Amino acid sequence: MRRTALRLGLLVLVLVAPLAAVPSYDFPERRPFAGDRWENPYAGWRAPFLKVNLHAHSRAWGGLTAGGSSAAELAQAYADRGFSALAISNYHQVTHLEAPPLPMIRGYEHGLNWSKSHRLVLGTDEAVGFDFPISTRSSRQWVLDVLRASGGLVGLNHPSLRAGHDCRDVEALTGFQLFEVHNAYATSLFEWDCALSAGRLAWAVGNDDAHAAREESIGVAWNMVGAEGATEPAILRALGAGRSYVVRGERGRMDVQVLGLEVDARGVMTLELDGPARVEWRTDGGEVRQLDEGVQVARFEAPRGARYVRAVVRTPNTEMVLNPVVRAGSWSSPLATIDWPRTVGGWAAWLLGALAVAALMPRRPHLSVVRAERRAA
Ligand SMILES: [Zn+2]
Repeated sequence: MRRTALRLGLLVLVLVAPLAAVPSYDFPERRPFAGDRWENPYAGWRAPFLKVNLHAHSRAWGGLTAGGSSAAELAQAYADRGFSALAISNYHQVTHLEAPPLPMIRGYEHGLNWSKSHRLVLGTDEAVGFDFPISTRSSRQWVLDVLRASGGLVGLNHPSLRAGHDCRDVEALTGFQLFEVHNAYATSLFEWDCALSAGRLAWAVGNDDAHAAREESIGVAWNMVGAEGATEPAILRALGAGRSYVVRGERGRMDVQVLGLEVDARGVMTLELDGPARVEWRTDGGEVRQLDEGVQVARFEAPRGARYVRAVVRTPNTEMVLNPVVRAGSWSSPLATIDWPRTVGGWAAWLLGALAVAALMPRRPHLSVVRAERRAA
């Protein structure tokens, strides 16, 4: 009984102790987009957009993580289904392929924790290895800062899954550029609007999160990227600028495609499609402000108070999520900073706690004392 309690205590200690190192962060207040002009990520771009998946798992870590196919099989499956590029994002490991059948983007999924707070890191060779099994908002911020410093684009994967990054989290955290709004297991549009409403600008991505090269696992959600070419630098540049949109569908089929989105000097937005669809215009909090049925060209004039506008295009088989057009001019991207007095205070508290536990530990008599006692007996 005492043994079990001791083991349990040790386990908790191992899981929680790493948090002692985490600095306390000062999270900036909500800072909604502001200014007298609109910033349009699609400005000046006309189709084509390239079909890209950024989140899929192959067999890795000796089969421990749930990847059912080899990296080569997975890449072949995406090439066969007409994708222009693929990132294989295994946990904490950048996967390299000799002679891949389609252009590859280096990347990995970061996250070994109970709350499924997972991140996508793209365009880097070195995976950051550590994570906190049990995490706090400050530890999640710390991880984001470390990932960003390691280079590449950083995104939040499936934020709504097990509330890995919930609404209050994404309103507070800073330093992520991508936001996975759709994948096979979770939809996180609500969380994305939380982030956008708070002025945390992150571009939508959508991915299969495939765990095998099976027919039905591929083409569940994907990105249409306005890149100059199917190369890693061009695709990452476009993703980082928000020149892409997300499609949620089935087996990669598309009924219509986006041709372009323009905003004129008066703030009137014009979305052009290559076929008729239903278009929703949404503003802060994801509120639908206008609905256009069966249109190929849709126009919208943003209401005065709106801080961002995003369009959703629906067809019988797909939902397409466009990136937001945001107010700009007097808005700057917020950044969480370390609160040093609170951090040092926290470290002192951990140290005192550890000393207190050590002082309370039942003391075993020293071996020499035991021997001396035996001799005396
Ligand atoms: Zn994940």
